[in-house]
Amino acid sequence: MTSLTKAPATSSHDLIEALARVQKDIARACRRAGRSQETVTLTAVTKTQPLQVITLALEAGLRTFGENRVQEAQAHWAGQWEDQKALASGFQLRLIGPLQTNKVDEAVRLFDVIETVDRPRLVDALANGADKAGRCPQLLVQVNTGAEPQKGGVLVSDLDDLMQSLHRRGLPVRGLMCIPPVDEAPGPHFALLAKLARRYDLPELSMGMSADFETAIRFGATHIRLGSALFGARSV
Ligand SMILES: *Cc1c(COP(=O)(O)O)cnc(C)c1O
Repeated sequence: MTSLTKAPATSSHDLIEALARVQKDIARACRRAGRSQETVTLTAVTKTQPLQVITLALEAGLRTFGENRVQEAQAHWAGQWEDQKALASGFQLRLIGPLQTNKVDEAVRLFDVIETVDRPRLVDALANGADKAGRCPQLLVQVNTGAEPQKGGVLVSDLDDLMQSLHRRGLPVRGLMCIPPVDEAPGPHFALLAKLARRYDLPELSMGMSADFETAIRFGATHIRLGSALFGARSV
C-alpha cells in the first residue's frame, strides 16, 4: 500500500508530551545549576519540518524558532505566517545555520537574530544589508571551538579581529554560539564559549542541542537549540 500524503513527523499529542518532558529537563538542569528557569530560552529548531509541524509548534505555545537555511526559513515563515507572527507576541526567528553573503539581504529582512556571524566578509555584507533594509537583526558570533575544518564559526584565535571589524562597522554583538564536535565531550567547549563571552561582556550564549542541553545549561547557556528532542528524529 502506498500513501501519497506524507504524514507529519509528529502529532499534536507527541509534541505537547515532548515539550513537557523537555521543560522538566530544563527545570531540573536549572535547579542543579542554581539558575532560574527564565534565564534559559528554548529555541525550537524547525529545519526540515513540514508546515503542519510548524502550526502544531505555534499551537503548543512555542515562540522562538531556529532555522538553518535562509530559503527554507522563507518557505516556513514568510508570507503565510505574517498573521500568526503578528498574533504571536514574543515571536522570534533565529538563523542558526551558515550564511552565504549572497543571502544576506534576505536574511536581514527575515530574521530577528543571526547566530552565525563568523568572518569579516560577512560583517561587511551584513552592514551593507542592514543599511539597505533600515534594520539589523541581533547578531551572535559563531565560534568554531573545536577548530574543525568542515564547520562554520570563527577560530578562537581570530575572534578578536572579527569582534573589531563588527565594532568598526557599527554592528553590536549580543553573544556567542557554538556547535561542539560530535565525537567530543561538549562540556569543555561550552566552558570555553562561556569564558569568551565573559571576556567580551556578552550576555547571550547559544549552546546545547537535544543531546547535550543539560550540560550547556550547567555552563551558562541562555539559548538552547532543540530539534529532535521536540519533533522526533529528522528523516533528512
Ligand atoms: C539541527 C540543529 C540543531 C538541533 O539539533 P537536534 O540535535 O535535533 O536538537 C541545533 N543547532 C544547530 C546549529 C542545528 O543545525
